[in-house]
Amino acid sequence: MRTLSAADLSLNTATVSKQWDLAQCIEGCACHGIGGISPWRDKLQACGVDRAAKLIRDAGLRVSGLCRGGWYTAEGALTQAVIDDNRRAVDEAAAIGAECLVMVVGGLPEGSKDIVAAREIVTEGLASTLDHARAAGVRVAIEPLHPMYAADRACVNMTAQALDICDRLGDGIGVALDVYHIWWDPDIAAQIRRAGKDRIHAFHVCDWMNPTQDMLLDRGMMGEGVIDIPSFRRMVEAEGFDGLVEVEIFSSRNWWTRPGDEVLAAMVAALPAI
Ligand code: ZN
Repeated sequence: MRTLSAADLSLNTATVSKQWDLAQCIEGCACHGIGGISPWRDKLQACGVDRAAKLIRDAGLRVSGLCRGGWYTAEGALTQAVIDDNRRAVDEAAAIGAECLVMVVGGLPEGSKDIVAAREIVTEGLASTLDHARAAGVRVAIEPLHPMYAADRACVNMTAQALDICDRLGDGIGVALDVYHIWWDPDIAAQIRRAGKDRIHAFHVCDWMNPTQDMLLDRGMMGEGVIDIPSFRRMVEAEGFDGLVEVEIFSSRNWWTRPGDEVLAAMVAALPAI
């Protein structure tokens, strides 16, 4: 395994979602020696895509991803509005030099109980985005989410399922592996081998608090919870993954209540737990 330093980390802007805008996140990364950033689209759009691209470039940061495209099931069927929004996400990812566009694919349409149909909408949507992404030189990364989000956020919940979609769609699409979503999966080692270097587009870390107080907003800093994070890093690096390790923490009770500088310092201090 690599010996990690702060320069190998990327700040997912959700980690300081309540404290900082994108310009402050960029400045914070530079200040703490963090090597990259992964903006959410709301912060990117609030900053302005061109201005953000320049700020990121000037700070010398890499962009480990753009969060997020997807939500293909939001309107019950694959509508032009959803397709267009994903095209814009691809264009934004290209403009800031993002190493991938992370896809949270969407859950059940409102009023639906048909998860099989939802998954078909998602696959069709990803195929349409992928055409544009290939032309723009942007890699698409499906992020399988923990099964507790199958109804409301993503009906792709296992790495195997995400890779089945990748197999169907071909080049330019892979996975974003987030330890929060994959740590429980008894098949994960085989699936990481199956993904291989070319399809591991991103690696996200945080920790699983036990007990968890909130299904969405109670992620821990690395080392605070029960995930053996180094075991997952070992697996992705055994496949040749050498990208940034992206820190993505939603924490309404704890980390979002602290000054941004304290959070970034804690990220760097948590390196031994990654
Ligand atoms: Zn993630």
